[in-house]
Amino acid sequence: MKIAFLGLGDIGKPMAHHLARDPFDLTVWNRTASKAAQFVTEHAGKKVKATPTPAEAVKGREIVITCLPSSVEVEELLHQKDGILAGISSGSVMLDCTSGDPTTSIAIAAELKSRGVQFVDAPVSGGTIGAVEGRLTVMCGGERAAFDRVMPALEAFAKKIVHCGPVGAGHTVKAVNQALLAVHILATAEALVTAAKAGVSPAVALEVINASSGRSNSSENLIPARALTREFPRTFRLALLDKDIDIAARLAKEMEVEAPLISLAARLTTEAHRMLGEEVDHVEAVRLVERRGGAEIKS
Ligand code: NDP
Repeated sequence: MKIAFLGLGDIGKPMAHHLARDPFDLTVWNRTASKAAQFVTEHAGKKVKATPTPAEAVKGREIVITCLPSSVEVEELLHQKDGILAGISSGSVMLDCTSGDPTTSIAIAAELKSRGVQFVDAPVSGGTIGAVEGRLTVMCGGERAAFDRVMPALEAFAKKIVHCGPVGAGHTVKAVNQALLAVHILATAEALVTAAKAGVSPAVALEVINASSGRSNSSENLIPARALTREFPRTFRLALLDKDIDIAARLAKEMEVEAPLISLAARLTTEAHRMLGEEVDHVEAVRLVERRGGAEIKS
């Protein structure tokens, strides 16, 4: 199966790794070409090659996978000179693993359809470790027949694969999931800073919360491993979470849903992003709460 993979970032690279083996034949392209060259070196002896342009990467490929920061970059890559549209073959499927926005994806799908190309939005969840271990969750939007065609590629890096509905449904589910992630991180940080200022160690408070009804993935995994230790390893940039919750907040507005919690979490995530910059990990959003509250979440 001939596949192109465009975007070897923090999560794209470990995903593409699972496609660098039989029965796949893989072409890769990355904006910073040295990363694509490095990927080929790391997979010497496999059916993997890097190309200088997106158009060359996608030429003659049955599945074209994109994994870029947002739908803005996906659109740019489609339309730029030597971009995807300049090379993609009629009869192929574009599989967009970017956490993108549903409205843009619906427009992209319509444009591709007029060229005989199907589109499936397929954002992922499970983090870089999930990607390395090939056990991501993928939420897909698109026609069932297109979904069935991309299944072998998805199965290479995912454990849970769900068809959520028509084009855009995958991006919708991802956006609302990310809204919950941001709410959980910020709310847990507020709870722990409050406990710390009241004289209770955040580690002790977490021990109780994680055996009680206030627990979440943030309290059980993210905050203990990243905030309590003060290590804050970067696996998923705060800038990307900011983009995700903004998509969710705009979607709620478009759907005429009153969502004050999502709106507030979106505003706080943007403030944290502005305060901390482009490169920090998403869990570092707790620093906003810590600075304002005057206590740290540490053991
Ligand atoms: P990164 O920022 O690590 O990588 C982004 C990739 O996009 C890089 O390959 C980068 O190229 C490329 N890129 C950036 N801007 C452009 C552009 N204008 N034109 C072409 N290529 C561009 O992001 P991640 O890999 O972490 O995330 C990718 C997607 O996956 C995002 O939508 C994110 O929200 C989602 N995601 C990420 C997770 C994670 O744990 N990291 C988890 C789940 C979803 P270059 O190397 O040149 O910078």
